[in-house]
Amino acid sequence: MGLSKSIWANPTEFLRAQSPENPVLFFAPSAAQAVARRFIDGFPGLVTYAVKSNPGEEMIENLVAAGIKGFDCASPFEIDLIRRLAPDAVIHYNNPVRSRTEIALAVARNVKSYSVDSKSELAKLIEMVPVADTEISVRFKLPVSGAAYNFGAKFGATAEVAVELLSTVAAAGYIPSITFHPGTQCTDPAAWASYIREAAEIARKAGIKIARLNVGGGFPNHRAVGILPQLDATFETIGRVAREAFGDALPALICEPGRALCGDAFTLAARVKSVRDGVHVFLNDGIYGSLLELGQIGIIDRIEVLDPQGNHRTGAVHGWICFGPTCDSIDRLPGDVPFPSDITEGDYVIVHGMGSYSTVTNSRFNGFGDLHRATVLSLDV
Ligand SMILES: *Cc1c(COP(=O)(O)O)cnc(C)c1O
Repeated sequence: MGLSKSIWANPTEFLRAQSPENPVLFFAPSAAQAVARRFIDGFPGLVTYAVKSNPGEEMIENLVAAGIKGFDCASPFEIDLIRRLAPDAVIHYNNPVRSRTEIALAVARNVKSYSVDSKSELAKLIEMVPVADTEISVRFKLPVSGAAYNFGAKFGATAEVAVELLSTVAAAGYIPSITFHPGTQCTDPAAWASYIREAAEIARKAGIKIARLNVGGGFPNHRAVGILPQLDATFETIGRVAREAFGDALPALICEPGRALCGDAFTLAARVKSVRDGVHVFLNDGIYGSLLELGQIGIIDRIEVLDPQGNHRTGAVHGWICFGPTCDSIDRLPGDVPFPSDITEGDYVIVHGMGSYSTVTNSRFNGFGDLHRATVLSLDV
């Protein structure tokens, strides 16, 4: 595309100058650093970043610059990425199922914190991971609602099994800790409260004073107009309930947000390929591209539509059927998508809050999905 500059004032300036045919993901380093500082200042413990949500180097580097010192990695690729970009950072390997090859790699990379949710996986860790200064966190699950997507369906021991695992961890000489992940886009602070109370109960039943409690990710990003993520209320709830539930045995707290740290630092611009017979909007990005997650956890309604010169379309907003570019019928955004009545071929659809689970799920199905990147000072259009 022959970019003539590397940092743009805002997405509009870029769209006007470049008229991109491919979807573009705009990154605002200032937005990434601001939310990181909000977490560091507000969360009552160590803030780590769940790399899987957006492993872009620009994202990691800006988090490090803002003061993030820990990373939740789920694979050898992510471990190597963080060792390269942030050599002094701590790594928590919190994918509770690992092959022996993966465990060996983590040991070789000096990873000192692992999560576990089953006896068979704990036996592998005990066999392969040196005990010295090494933490094993028992991950448990609760049938709690409040999140947009339930992670307990795959990972997490029941409370009974967690008691047993915690005892085994301590008996083997590792630093015993507990972890959970309440789900993603969890807008109800009460979800953390239930988990923290249960964690205290598990530690009490096992008769073990845990070193740390990792309250997971799941903090929301800004997806709905007029509904701001309640980060401060969630931080307050976590600190207060942990003190109440653990009393004198209060562990150090850790969180590992992904979406909340990266989501609102990126804005997507997709182009309207066609408004087919006035009823179907076809975009150049969709479910097989960077919009996969919308099909799973729902539409982001922070949408603006610009004409090719960068002016806002101002027609009355109503719900449209909106398809992605591939030939597959499931390549449709969920429900009715709010677009103005004057949306037209060639326009740009701006979707805010697109930094999480977007670059990582982007496929090249049908030859689409060539996502371009640009850095901006501000994401306002
Ligand atoms: C995915 C994941 C996270 C991050 O979740 P977000 O909803 O993006 O904050 C944190 N911890 C674990 C164990 C995860 O699997």
